[in-house]
Amino acid sequence: MSIQDLLGISPIVNAAGPVTRLSGALMADEVIEAMAEAGKACYDIASMQAAAGRVIAEVTGAEGGYVTSGASAGLLLGVAACVTGLDPGKMNRLPDTRGMKNQVIIARSHRNFYDHAIRSVGIRLIEVGISDRYSGAGVRDTEAWEIADAISERTAAIAYVANSNARPSLAEVTRVAHERNIPVVVDAAGQLPPSSNLKRFISEGADLVCFSGGKVIGGPQGAGILCGRRDLISSAALQHLDQDVLFELWSPPEGLIDKSALPGAPQHGIGRPCKVGKEQIAGLVMALRRFVDEDEDARRKRWADTVDAIVDSLRGLDGLEVSVSDGGAIPSVHVKMATLDGLTATRQLNANDPSVHVNASRVYEDILVLNPVCLRDGDVSVLADAFKALLS
Ligand SMILES: *Cc1c(COP(=O)(O)O)cnc(C)c1O
Repeated sequence: MSIQDLLGISPIVNAAGPVTRLSGALMADEVIEAMAEAGKACYDIASMQAAAGRVIAEVTGAEGGYVTSGASAGLLLGVAACVTGLDPGKMNRLPDTRGMKNQVIIARSHRNFYDHAIRSVGIRLIEVGISDRYSGAGVRDTEAWEIADAISERTAAIAYVANSNARPSLAEVTRVAHERNIPVVVDAAGQLPPSSNLKRFISEGADLVCFSGGKVIGGPQGAGILCGRRDLISSAALQHLDQDVLFELWSPPEGLIDKSALPGAPQHGIGRPCKVGKEQIAGLVMALRRFVDEDEDARRKRWADTVDAIVDSLRGLDGLEVSVSDGGAIPSVHVKMATLDGLTATRQLNANDPSVHVNASRVYEDILVLNPVCLRDGDVSVLADAFKALLS
C-alpha cells in the first residue's frame, strides 16, 4: 500500500535540505534493505549496539561509539554520562542532580534551542562571555580563559557547538577543560560533509561528539551517532538501554559495559525515552559505511550536477536572478525574484501542488536558497514549473 493510500499524504519537493521538519534525508536502497532485514528478526539490542559502536569507533577514531535517536538525544545521553559517570545510584536519581556536579558551561554565542536536551538532564547551563562580533559592536567572542574562569567543583562538562565560524576554537576549549579534568561534549549534528569531520573533533580533544544520522549521512531520520571516551559511552548506554533485567541474568556486551565494575544494574535511565530500534541501528550503520566509502569529490560532483540542472532549468525565466553558491560544504542555488519578496515567494512555493520547500535562512534578504541534497530524479523540473507559476 502506498503512503498516499495509507495516510492520504503525498511527498513534497524538498529543496531545503535534510532538516527534521521535512523528514530528513533520502535513504539509499541498501539502507532501506538493511532496515527491512532488521525488522524481520529479533536481536539482543545491547549486542547490536556494541557491534555498531565498533564501526562508529573505527570511522571516528574514538574509543567508543553508540547509535542514538539523533544528535539531540546524543547531547542528552552525553551530558547525563558526564554528570553520573558509572554510578548507578546517580543514574537512577536523574534529573534530580542534587549533590552531583550539575553545571554545564557553554559560550553564550553557542546557545541554541537544542540545549533543551542538555538542560533536561537536570543541570544548569552557565553561559560565558559576550559575543560582540554577532551584535556588530566589535570583533570579540567568548574566549577560552573565560571558560576556564567559570570552571568550578560543580562543573560536569563543557558544551561546544561546532560550526565553521565557532569561537573559541575547540582545541583551545579542550585544552583549558582537560587541565581541570572536565569533559567537552561537542554538538556536530550538521558538520558533515566533509567526512573528515567524523574524526576531526575527536582529534581536537573532544570527549564526546554527536552527529545526526538523518542529515547528510543519509541514515534513518530518527538516528544519530554518539562517539568518544569509552567510560562515557558506557555510561550513556547504561542510561539508554532497556534495563528490565535481573542482575544475575544480565550479561551486557563486555566492550560496551563492564558488569564487574558495577555494584548493581541501574534501572531504566533518563535516556530510555530516546529509544533506538534495531531498524535504526542497522540503517545508520549501513548509511555510515556508504557515507565514508563515497569519495568526497564524487559526492560534491553529484550535488554540483543537481545544482547545474536547477540553474539550467531556471536561467531562461524572466524576473529571476539565479546564481550558484559553491563556497560552503554543500553547493546551492540562490534565487532572487524581481517582483516578489522572499516571504511571499516562499509562501507561494509552499502552497504549490506538490508543495515546494526552500531554505529560508536568507529570506529577509529576498534570497531563496535551494539545497540539492534531498532532491529526487524529476524534482528539478517540478521546481522549475513551480517558479514559472510564480512568475505568471
Ligand atoms: C540538526 C541539529 C541538531 C539536532 O539533530 P537531530 O539529529 O535532529 O537530533 C542539533 N544541533 C544542531 C546544531 C543541529 O544542526
